[in-house]
Amino acid sequence: MQSSYTALHYTMGNKIFIGNWKSNKKISDIGPYFQVLTSELAPLPDTTRVIVCPPYSLLADVKKYARSPIYLGAQDVSAFPEGAYTGENSAALLAEFAEYVIIGHSERRNMLGETDEHLFEKVRRAREANLNVIYCIQNELDEIPDDVQFIAFEPPAAIGTGNPESPERISAVFEEVHMKNESPALLYGGSVNEQSISQFFDIQHLSGFLIGGASLDAFGFSKLITSWQD
Ligand code: PEP
Repeated sequence: MQSSYTALHYTMGNKIFIGNWKSNKKISDIGPYFQVLTSELAPLPDTTRVIVCPPYSLLADVKKYARSPIYLGAQDVSAFPEGAYTGENSAALLAEFAEYVIIGHSERRNMLGETDEHLFEKVRRAREANLNVIYCIQNELDEIPDDVQFIAFEPPAAIGTGNPESPERISAVFEEVHMKNESPALLYGGSVNEQSISQFFDIQHLSGFLIGGASLDAFGFSKLITSWQD
């Protein structure tokens, strides 16, 4: 599947909101969630993209609601191709549903021992299948593979703790990352919520947010999205 997003993501002024549901929600939650999200978000400028990343088992059901400005992403992808890899989800399989994929989330690096080598292979597989990659880094020292479309700076101490990173530190990391990787859009993630979000809007190079806990409630998530409109 060719991504419909490829031409737009380099444009300055885009606002990207990625909702990472992690291992949350059931099939019965999906209809009510998107009823709220679609009604609260209409109308949004073309430059705003909302990318919802449900668990694998909900991708097919969420796909029914994935029309602009809402797009579908996966939370991870296999480093292996299609074949005898029990429990794995290949990039080709995911590309039947999603246009985006998160790779390198710190929960996977830290709890599941994913290494740079493994992550680079995942990126290669994802790009072969034309998935747009949202590559997570924990600091400015993390290696970043070529050909990723988004880089999300997600300091582990800020994830799910209610203690977001300071705008100054985010700016410094973005500056360094941008010098080495000009093309990918830069995102921040870590305890972004209604109280914290506005302090980040003026950060140079910021194209959007990766949001975990605060994306689970459709009203709350839509408030975050509409709060960053001109
Ligand atoms: C995340 O898991 O990527 C994340 C940023 O979580 P939270 O928004 O809950 O801190």
